[in-house]
Amino acid sequence: MAPWFGQSSMVVYSLCTWSLEGSDMLSKTDFIQYLNCPKSLWLKQHKPDVYPEGEFSDFAQKLAAEGYQVEGYVRQLVKEWPDAASCSFQDVFETNEGLHARADMLRENEDGTIDIFEIKSSTSVKDGKPHNQLKDAAFQTIAATRAGRDVRNIFIVHLNKDYVRDGEIDPGGLLTFADETIRVKGLLDETEREIAEALSLLGEAAIDESSCTCLNLSRLHHCDSFDYFNPGIPEYSIYSLPRLFGRKLENFVAEGRFGLDQIELDEVSRLQQPIVRAHNIENPYVDLADIENFIGALAYPLYFLDYETYLSAIPVVDGTGPQQQLPFQFSLHVLHEDGRVDHVEYLADRPELPRPLVEALEGAVGANGSVVTWNKTFENARNNEMGQAFPDKRDFLLGLVDRTVDLMDVFKTGYVDIRFNGSTSIKKVLPVVVPELSYEGMEIGDGTAAMDGWNKMINETDPQKQARLRQALLEYCKLDTLAMVRIFQFVEGLVRGG
Ligand code: SF4
Repeated sequence: MAPWFGQSSMVVYSLCTWSLEGSDMLSKTDFIQYLNCPKSLWLKQHKPDVYPEGEFSDFAQKLAAEGYQVEGYVRQLVKEWPDAASCSFQDVFETNEGLHARADMLRENEDGTIDIFEIKSSTSVKDGKPHNQLKDAAFQTIAATRAGRDVRNIFIVHLNKDYVRDGEIDPGGLLTFADETIRVKGLLDETEREIAEALSLLGEAAIDESSCTCLNLSRLHHCDSFDYFNPGIPEYSIYSLPRLFGRKLENFVAEGRFGLDQIELDEVSRLQQPIVRAHNIENPYVDLADIENFIGALAYPLYFLDYETYLSAIPVVDGTGPQQQLPFQFSLHVLHEDGRVDHVEYLADRPELPRPLVEALEGAVGANGSVVTWNKTFENARNNEMGQAFPDKRDFLLGLVDRTVDLMDVFKTGYVDIRFNGSTSIKKVLPVVVPELSYEGMEIGDGTAAMDGWNKMINETDPQKQARLRQALLEYCKLDTLAMVRIFQFVEGLVRGG
């Protein structure tokens, strides 16, 4: 039982629901979007037909899905509490001004007050952007108060980062109840003001749609509405330049210099120059010396390696914890010096610690040769984690880390095509340099779909459907490493003059 529980028996209350008279409605999700960007919320509510449902809604949906999963364990735990009957889930507060809040859980106290519980899938209480959970709770508190309830305590229920699964999930060990009453109540005045501002903005029939504040921020910060609010920005622009931010970006914006043809080479960094050059020469920018340096440091055979991992709020296998990456698949193409190519792959058929995966990899990777990845930070992080989890495999896995190079680096300064639009993602590079290979039309075509596909595969009871998912996963991961082989052969051909 949670230690802050004072009551032993409670009455079950049903919540009063206020009728909604205002024309504009502000839900908790809307409010968080407002805090991130007022204009994008206005656009969503006033012009839904032109609003691009993009990253924010994907992010919100992922959080919501994980939140429901965690809520299932909260429900299990609460059933054991002596005053379980006083707790309820998903009650709604609506107010006359248009606030709409659904409480994940609340508890009716004997003195007529309520306690609010916000349930999250994070492993700590988040109090910054993009999702300030304390602001979430402050919004709930204000909505509940305006709906006539007296809020006593406010908790954020999140996952315990130190929990390690051992058999059935133990909700008591999995969940942490953080009493955030003081911090949330300290935010109420500020949140009241922000709610008033949000409602006032939503009440506006028109706003300035001619630009937005992200003009002064790098592309990483732009949402999918950027093009709508800034229609005059060329396709290839200063926002195609990596790591362009701060005073330099603001100056370009203030001077109205958005096109790459308006930027001088000596105004940008060594990393940004190749993109300006590629744009201005209307051809790929190639630095053969840079590519030769990369290729010259390699040792054959070349092992092109890619992992797929499963990241879930609730640990799916014993020995793992919340929000931990679990490698379940690898694809390995081996390119020998004489041009022969072999392929080895592994896909876990059930949730398991990745020891069989490591053993399969150990059987396929020889003592010599470079390991080639795309974005080596990811593969090396997994190798380091698995090295810690399996001490007897540590030397092998840390040896892989030492031998790993990043093919993506070539596309930062060695070969830059403006059609990459400043990105070095393999999904951008492949269609330009090896257009005959494509992820288009694949049943599983990106890492998120692979995660989802593996989860479906291991839970599928129909053998035919399961086999189809398995095949789709194998094809996707195989294409990732085959793409690397073909991209490598492309840059090698440049050096050879082919
Ligand atoms: S790009 Fe514009 S609309 Fe989108 S978050 Fe930035 S300021 Fe808001």
